[in-house]
Amino acid sequence: MSGQTKIASPEARTAALKDALSKKGLIPEGALEGVIQTASEEWDPKNGARVVARAWVDADFRKRLLEDGTKACAELGYEGIQGEYIVALEDEPTRHNVIVCTQCSCTAWPVLGLPADWYKSPEYRARVVREPRKVLHEMGLDLAKDIAIRVWETSAETRYMVIPCRPEGTEGWSEEQLASLVTREALVGIALVTSA
Ligand code: FE
Repeated sequence: MSGQTKIASPEARTAALKDALSKKGLIPEGALEGVIQTASEEWDPKNGARVVARAWVDADFRKRLLEDGTKACAELGYEGIQGEYIVALEDEPTRHNVIVCTQCSCTAWPVLGLPADWYKSPEYRARVVREPRKVLHEMGLDLAKDIAIRVWETSAETRYMVIPCRPEGTEGWSEEQLASLVTREALVGIALVTSA
């Protein structure tokens, strides 16, 4: 053998880790299945969309959301693992917020769902910090020059979500109609919300 270390695939390493933990009795029965079920049934960006819609129609809720995102999201039933430190960022006509986890892929699972592949990619994580306007352009979002872009480093202890600007022409819309406009991309800040 040479001095080179052969690295197993992520799948093989996951299986080995699961096997080792199981043998030590460290994975309670049904625990993994429970997490998988919660991930597929409960962690959904539609939850974040409902939070945004509520913030658009209810000024008191918006205030509470900006003061304590975790508590305000819990009011709507969105709480739990990876949702303990939610911080809401308010877009303004001249200021746009975008989120990244440069270290790994942190996000607020109960309101944003599990992260998309592009969010986890080394390219997005490295580049959106250095050249956000260019990266947003490449992802289909062209912002006017007079709109400032703020890039926020989300982490395990600070899990951001974006409150986009409410689109024009939605006066009198129901909360449900408004929520249907808000995409996962808008909650991260790589898209705007439009009524079209
Ligand atoms: Fe992370």
